Amino acid sequence: MGAGPGDPGLLTVRGRELLAAADVVVVDRLAGAMLLDHAPSSAEIIHVGKSPTTRSWSQEEINAVLVDRARAGARVVRLKGGDPYVFGRGGEEAEACAAAGVPCGVVPGVTSALAVPALAGVPVTHRDAAQEIVIVSGHLSPGHPGSTVDWAGLAASRATIVVLMGVARLMDIADALLAGGRAEATPVAVIERGATPAQRVLRTTLDALAVDAIAAGVRSPAVIVVGEVAARDDAAVDLTRPLAGVRVLVARTRPRPGRLAIELRALGADAVETVVARPAPATPTR
Ligand code: SAH
Repeated sequence: MGAGPGDPGLLTVRGRELLAAADVVVVDRLAGAMLLDHAPSSAEIIHVGKSPTTRSWSQEEINAVLVDRARAGARVVRLKGGDPYVFGRGGEEAEACAAAGVPCGVVPGVTSALAVPALAGVPVTHRDAAQEIVIVSGHLSPGHPGSTVDWAGLAASRATIVVLMGVARLMDIADALLAGGRAEATPVAVIERGATPAQRVLRTTLDALAVDAIAAGVRSPAVIVVGEVAARDDAAVDLTRPLAGVRVLVARTRPRPGRLAIELRALGADAVETVVARPAPATPTR
């Protein structure tokens, strides 16, 4: 099932219900850790994504653990960032379950390809500027023999191009689009860690993209939007998240996340919880 792009509020209602009923949750790094608060405390949580301290699991190992736990009778939730079928290899995992005779269903998620630009004020379509959107993987560079993306065709079109997994290939991607005839002045927005309190947005143009991205130190995960719409900033003030951009330190005594932090996050705050041994009454400081 899809975890959405990062903001815990963008999990679907169906997804939340399934998490609450899970015996086992198999989770990627990008699928927000905060969503695990919805799972029962007794649920087994298996992290299969790369982290600075652990290696990532191979696809075969992930498939095997899904099948193994399901065969043991557990209700298994496979939590994936964004939408599971948008560059998420969700299809491969569903196939592996079907091949093993394990029944499985899919819960779509809010994909970062559309939601991350939107939250940064970039509408991916606009009646006057873009009547097409193409979501492409930038995992393989345009010149790579294994790449099936028609970069020349995209360059010649007026589509909004949304590139996922493209940070490491930014320069090659910009070069391919320029070589194919996209104008140098074409607006580009790069949105790093969208839908999270750490979001950063770089606005530039196609010819300056590579240099500006290096200067800004853009890191993955980021969504790259190329096209006229990337110059727009249509997000009105988000009235549902009045605490966006505010970091709050919340002390709690129990191992489970506290209600206060959950409510602060729902209002957009970056609530950082710290466990204290025992609460003490606040004493005024001089
Ligand atoms: N299934 C996911 C995409 C998986 S590919 C989805 O539907 O969103 C991983 C890529 O998604 C990253 O390299 C990045 O390009 C993008 N991405 C995912 N979450 C993101 C976020 N919060 N901010 C910016 N980009 C994100």
